[in-house]
Amino acid sequence: MKAEVVKGWPRNNAIRILLKDTDSSQVNAIRRALISDVPKLAITRVNITQGVVENDGQIMESVNVLPDEVLAHRLAMIPIPTFTDDNIYFTENCEECMYKADTEKGCQQCQIIYSLNVQGPASDSEQQTVTVYAEDLTTVSDQKYDILEEHKRIPLTILSKGQYLELYALARMGRGGAHQKWCPVSGVGFRPLQKAVLNKPKKADVLFSLGLKTSDGKDINAKLFGSNKTIDDINHVFDLEKALHQVGPGTGREADFDDAITMETVEGSYVLSYETDGSYDPKTAFNLAMDELASRFDSIASDLDKAFA
Ligand SMILES: [Zn+2]
Repeated sequence: MKAEVVKGWPRNNAIRILLKDTDSSQVNAIRRALISDVPKLAITRVNITQGVVENDGQIMESVNVLPDEVLAHRLAMIPIPTFTDDNIYFTENCEECMYKADTEKGCQQCQIIYSLNVQGPASDSEQQTVTVYAEDLTTVSDQKYDILEEHKRIPLTILSKGQYLELYALARMGRGGAHQKWCPVSGVGFRPLQKAVLNKPKKADVLFSLGLKTSDGKDINAKLFGSNKTIDDINHVFDLEKALHQVGPGTGREADFDDAITMETVEGSYVLSYETDGSYDPKTAFNLAMDELASRFDSIASDLDKAFA
């Protein structure tokens, strides 16, 4: 199998990868590895302070509109930046913590600590509520684990007058197979590589006259097909496929268009596309998925060797 990033990608956290000399079951194995096997950090334990405190004469209580479980879930789903070269251990494999009781597990080598302390509006404030955002989490560990800019405005809950929220949150390594919070990707899909062929240039005018454009701003017209009357550019093929819905069944243009442009499948090649949640860049996520697959097959091979020895 050969893999190459499609020209013009990644865009932010999204990527398209062309996979050649392969079949759908192999590509699906990568898809599944991305979803459930690539390890990443996510908040998995939250310690919420309970009680009543006095602040400048105002009595504050540790309550808010959300039950603790819901709050814990919201915290868990915030993408935590993860670095492959940091060697943060899984807590169950951490030498320090392996043999400790569950409640005592967790050390510098296997968890990242965040704290959060937000109070509702002051009693004389006109403001009725304060919104708690992901950015209110501060890293007690290394600052590189700070919540990313793009996720800072994820709202967690709101606090009214006389309410406060104080907590410690622990992020640990895990895999998407155990819980969605450890899944680094979304919208993972793949499809056979296709090329678009212009069969009937005159009838294709039904589409061309609509004035549609490709995602990079080029006009969808006969020129796009070039002299060999085909489009190989993967991004343009995706754009064209979308555009063909305008002349497809139910549009009233189907008969006039008369399959003037058809899509041809390229055997053995697939386009894999997905987006990461920001915990990894999409290339790193792909490489980690391949590592996970490789180690899995290595262990199957050695198990088979043992079984047949
Ligand atoms: Zn540990």
